[in-house]
Amino acid sequence: MSEPRPGARPVLVTVADLLATPGRRRELTGRRVLEDLAVGGGAIAEDAVDLQLTLEAQAGRIICSGEVHARWELECRRCLGPVLVPVAPEVTEVFEPAPAEGETFPLEGEVVDLAPMLREVVLLTLPLAPICDESCGGPAGGSYYGEPAAEEGEAPGVRRDPRWAALDDFRP
Ligand SMILES: [Zn+2]
Repeated sequence: MSEPRPGARPVLVTVADLLATPGRRRELTGRRVLEDLAVGGGAIAEDAVDLQLTLEAQAGRIICSGEVHARWELECRRCLGPVLVPVAPEVTEVFEPAPAEGETFPLEGEVVDLAPMLREVVLLTLPLAPICDESCGGPAGGSYYGEPAAEEGEAPGVRRDPRWAALDDFRP
């Protein structure tokens, strides 16, 4: 687990009441704004995540479960136009006083900072090959990869990697 960046905006939640009453659950909903919700090629719209979480204390630990809703702002890989991709990863994460590296998150006293967990689960949902529409044919006025010509001997429906096109010149 990475250390929070200096100045990174936390999402602090006090859980004293839960720790005092094991088994008690508390809903945690609403919008939170995080920082650094971007990776190469995309960013989360408005840096905002909408929480539908439940917090519960179990044996001195806090279990956080539910869904996190967010929207990726990406470029269509075919036409490079804007694409908005909603994601809603399910989370079941544990916060504890002595967190296991990479597996659980810290519970410091009676407070948890949800920001590192939220950032992690949301960034993991980055779509690898966003397209604006299944029928997107590439940039307007021209085809990015050329027409998907059906070649002899090639199984229909197999998408050829355009990088292989350069090798076609060497075919006998
Ligand atoms: Zn497109």
